Amino acid sequence: MTTAAVSVPMPAVPRRRRAPADVTAAAPVIGTKKVLLAAPRGYCAGVDRAVVAVEKALEHYGPPVYVRKQIVHNVHVVSSLEAKGAVFVDETDEVPEGALVIFSAHGVSPAVISTAADRGLRTIDATCPLVTKVHREAVRFARDDFDILLIGHEGHEEVEGTAGEAPEHIQIVNGPQDVDAVQVRDPEKVIWLSQTTLSVDETMETVRLLKDRFPTLQDPPSDDICYATTNRQVAIKKIAPAADLVIVVGSANSSNSVRLVEVALEYGAKASYRVDFANEVDESWFEGVATVGVTSGASVPEVLVQDVLRLLADYGYQDVQEVVTAEEDLLFSLPKELRATLKQAGDASRALGGRGQRPVSS
Ligand code: SF4
Repeated sequence: MTTAAVSVPMPAVPRRRRAPADVTAAAPVIGTKKVLLAAPRGYCAGVDRAVVAVEKALEHYGPPVYVRKQIVHNVHVVSSLEAKGAVFVDETDEVPEGALVIFSAHGVSPAVISTAADRGLRTIDATCPLVTKVHREAVRFARDDFDILLIGHEGHEEVEGTAGEAPEHIQIVNGPQDVDAVQVRDPEKVIWLSQTTLSVDETMETVRLLKDRFPTLQDPPSDDICYATTNRQVAIKKIAPAADLVIVVGSANSSNSVRLVEVALEYGAKASYRVDFANEVDESWFEGVATVGVTSGASVPEVLVQDVLRLLADYGYQDVQEVVTAEEDLLFSLPKELRATLKQAGDASRALGGRGQRPVSS
């Protein structure tokens, strides 16, 4: 894949969250200070769709609108929606009978859907269509009596949802370290599926080890690690070798954001840190740093990245070059339950949401 470097205008010097450093007092910097800004970064189609779904539900039904789990894994997004009247709960038994509840982008198991139905809850399912695709694969291969090895992080909401589609057929493989312990009924009838937000490289290593043990292991019908996760990792792989420091904007429970830090370090960044907000950036990180890479996870609004860029400008990193490895223009329709309501209300403002991918050509 080819890349393009694009100079982007720097925003005006910001309102500050912290006092600017005395940049003249910092350790000497070899070379000109600059920022390499990854593209794609930030919101993916599934996150955009889920956030718009909550906003539209609040607009059309009025608060409170209950949301099971964080709609997407981002502190800023969750607190912004709370301020508008969304109420986040861990389980549907915290939702008053008959109230409206939205299922998050990470998906839910059939047991959660049936519990909500038993309690008479009205539901909007904001599960990302790319997560739903993995659920369907799980159902299909369980029906065909395969053992399904689900590569993913035990305890992550998405993995719980997918595993809940066929618990008797699915075992979770956290990574290469779990491979030796995997037991299957028939080595000729095994398939692997995965969480959508994993490290592509680590997942392929897990698959390689699984195939050493089960040579006829089947691959998923199409990639389970989604386009947004893959694209953001490709972009940071391009930047990392030239970066003294990579800052990833994203929350601690955002799997794809945490993976970006790991990938940056694996591909040569001298240091990499994840921050939720610009005011978490520590000025000691800039000592001796000429080139700063910046990216953000798939659940991160661009405004948070712009805050970081303004902070960097204060520290002398004013030359921002965008490194583009793909263009995204995919659109997902809003959840069907909401589309019907919007249609009735004559609201055509946002029948669709999200962005997808288009490789950059030379
Ligand atoms: S990261 Fe991928 S799977 Fe998750 S919401 Fe975004 S597009 Fe969907």
